[in-house]
Amino acid sequence: MTEANVRATGPIRLGGTAGTTLRPATGAAITGGLWAERRRVNREISIPGAWDRLHEAGNFHNLELAAGRASGEYVNELPFLDSDVYKWLEAVGWVLADPDLAPERAAGLRSQLDETEKLLRAAPQPDGYLDSHFQVRFPGERFVQLPWGHELYCAGHLVQAAVAVHRTTGDDGLLRIARRVADLVVESFGPEPGRVDGVCGHPEIETALVELYRETGEPSYLARARYFIDRRGHGLLGDARFGPQYWQDHQPIREAPSVEGHAVRQLYLLAGVADVHLEDGDPSLLDAATRLWTEMVATKVYLTGGIGAHHKDEAFGDPYELPNERSYCETCAAISSIMFCWRMLIITAEAKYADLLERTLYNGFLAGLSLDGQHYIYANPLQVREGHVTSGTDGDYARVPWFSCACCPPNVMRTLASLEHYVLLGGDRRAALHQYIPGRYTAEVGDAPVTLEVETDYPWSGAISIRVVSTPTHPWALAVRIPDWVGGASLIVDGVPAQTAPQEGWWVVDRQWSSGDQIELTLPMEPRFTRADPRLDVARGSVALEYGPLVYCFEAADNTEHRLDDVAVDVTAPLETAPADPALGMVTEIRATGRARTHRPDAWWPYRPVDEAYPEPDSPVRLTAVPYYTWGNRGVGAMRIWVPTT
Ligand SMILES: [Zn+2]
Repeated sequence: MTEANVRATGPIRLGGTAGTTLRPATGAAITGGLWAERRRVNREISIPGAWDRLHEAGNFHNLELAAGRASGEYVNELPFLDSDVYKWLEAVGWVLADPDLAPERAAGLRSQLDETEKLLRAAPQPDGYLDSHFQVRFPGERFVQLPWGHELYCAGHLVQAAVAVHRTTGDDGLLRIARRVADLVVESFGPEPGRVDGVCGHPEIETALVELYRETGEPSYLARARYFIDRRGHGLLGDARFGPQYWQDHQPIREAPSVEGHAVRQLYLLAGVADVHLEDGDPSLLDAATRLWTEMVATKVYLTGGIGAHHKDEAFGDPYELPNERSYCETCAAISSIMFCWRMLIITAEAKYADLLERTLYNGFLAGLSLDGQHYIYANPLQVREGHVTSGTDGDYARVPWFSCACCPPNVMRTLASLEHYVLLGGDRRAALHQYIPGRYTAEVGDAPVTLEVETDYPWSGAISIRVVSTPTHPWALAVRIPDWVGGASLIVDGVPAQTAPQEGWWVVDRQWSSGDQIELTLPMEPRFTRADPRLDVARGSVALEYGPLVYCFEAADNTEHRLDDVAVDVTAPLETAPADPALGMVTEIRATGRARTHRPDAWWPYRPVDEAYPEPDSPVRLTAVPYYTWGNRGVGAMRIWVPTT
């Protein structure tokens, strides 16, 4: 499968000997629908705008200081400002391959990329060491502040940016800079005498080094990624500030029973674990990844796919501890979950990983970017109370143009810019279409390309047309995912209902295909109410509204008659769909009915004896819900996903 592996052009290009069930697509273009519009905004507004934001925030200034081209102080106390530049560079790398990028915009991004590359050529020390925070603030010091220094984290993002630019443009300028940094990491760390036996406080280098191995074929990168995973969890960081879970330093990954601590750190680490398993086949790594994914999904994931229940330490909470108003759900954590799920899907071909990937993509991730592409939200709550006062700072519930800790905005950019690769996978004799996004996708089935064209109005409609554009002359199986929320899907192949039935989340049609063959998949899509496990206290007695892969929310902007904390929804009354407020774009809203509670005006505090009842909600009320990802785009106001029932 060597040839099939090396042709992939997205964030994962498997090594020639990778043992896996599925492989990333080798060609992909998104041509319409919700994601094409989000990607247009990303390409035309967010990514070009980030150049200015990163200059205003001092990220470039710090690198200029390291290069000796500027004078002054290092800006911002945080040590990982370089990584924001690198994540943005990675986004530029992916977007330069976007066929919809206008030539004048491409030229503008190209010159920003060239200018940045020139700076990054000038900034490193003679042996290749590059980290503006340490070069400027702690000259001569390196790899000694491992818990909080973020040196390998920054190096990892530089590597990923360089791989993206090299993969899409063939230019190796940035790759040469990144390889010197990676080589220094390989030479400086390890069990050998005279080296640092340690790991970085923030995982990221692991998955980056594996990708660099894939890009260059240099085995020492893979070996070092494996070393960082093997050595983690042995207390090497020894930093008591946040506790060992925060750093993923509390337990070796193969022994850990549950996801713990800082959510992004945990899932970046798990993405790296999955990557190393993909390349070297270590079954104990797959066991660990499977166990931790399963535990996380059973007890620690929000309905939106968001993860991280605690603002404190940006951390996972206890099982079923998923508060709504204080959900952290960092946008970066959603991205880390998407990365992990995609790798697990590639390894196992199990549809459940694509289910969570989709849920996270449409909800927990997409909510992190405003519709105008110029505002971001760091923590993604499931509820904002009436009377909430916004401070406008990082982690608060209002969209702002940038953060002092701006990890999320460029992370959103690089994910959207490479999204076309997350749709189709190829295998030895199958093509697996796991996301429904209009476009044209190519995957290798065996060593021969299969190209599919997908037309759909998903997620607003469940009608999906798939046309076989090109096919090998031997039979192969088309597997289309039937999402976990679907009941009664139908599949018609060239006018004839499929004779098979969906199994374990896939509907598989195995036959000799011809170009021009037409597949019509229908995923019945009606608004639906969802309940939570009773152990989830915050949702007990409540329901959420969903439609296809979308989680809906009730916002004050659409529900002006009553306060949102006074309403209850009637789950027996019919639901209707209608076009939403045009300010939200081409979006479907859901209309429900319910009742609102009237409070006694003389209630002086919110408690009373158990035998004294509170009034039931009695006045009829119409309720309107909009997709969660659109919330907070019409000013500040109350919002909730879970609503009590009448
Ligand atoms: Zn973030």
